[in-house]
Amino acid sequence: MSVSIKTSHEIELMRHAGKLLEQVHNELAKHIRPGISTWELDQIGEKMIRSLGCIPNFLNYEGFPGSFCLCLNDEVVHGIPAKNKIIQEGDLIKVDAGLIYKGYHSDAARTYAVGEVSPEAQKLMEVTKQSFFEGIKYAKAGHHLHEISAAIGAYAESFGYGVVRDLVGHGIGTNLHEDPQIPNFKQRSRGIRLQPGMTLAIEPMINMGRPEVAWLDDDWTVVTEDGSLSAHYENTILITDGEPEILTLSI
Ligand code: MG
Repeated sequence: MSVSIKTSHEIELMRHAGKLLEQVHNELAKHIRPGISTWELDQIGEKMIRSLGCIPNFLNYEGFPGSFCLCLNDEVVHGIPAKNKIIQEGDLIKVDAGLIYKGYHSDAARTYAVGEVSPEAQKLMEVTKQSFFEGIKYAKAGHHLHEISAAIGAYAESFGYGVVRDLVGHGIGTNLHEDPQIPNFKQRSRGIRLQPGMTLAIEPMINMGRPEVAWLDDDWTVVTEDGSLSAHYENTILITDGEPEILTLSI
């Protein structure tokens, strides 16, 4: 396994890719409302990405037919945008997006509540987001990759949630998916030693119920096996000598 170390020039490009993706997420979020289809959201989002001079990296990735992965409720990831998938009040929607800027990829996901959701759903969203931040406390040079995994898993599991095991985060750069794979739960090994210049997409996928997932007949959409709600939160980050830099989120 080889993990690419980005040069300062490459890091600049990835920073810019990340900023643009954050902008796309923030703009697209304004269009999420009851009555809109996930297909319409995908169309709006694709136009945004292209208007920024970027390319949607999910489109046609291994044949994926949308620019965004849009998932509702018990759908975990890789939901195909569809005209007959209409967003309803009370839904949880997961928006996973990525773009290519001057050859460099960025990848980030958010979960949103559509109007009022149950306190339990709200909690799941908050814990999923926080699990990312718990994980990146260890995303520093000198630490090991699986410290991130263990911290994410321990935090989410402390609320009784199921951490999805069949899907992982990943390195990112000139390819959407690079080494290393980044599980969201405790591993037996400690994983690679983190070095400045590594860029990673860290993405906890957390289920309210059991961790098991299943694939729908479209061969893409991943759902919770027990039908429970699922949440997803992802950013592309840069490993530095100090605190990690979150490339797809301004703090
Ligand atoms: Mg990703």
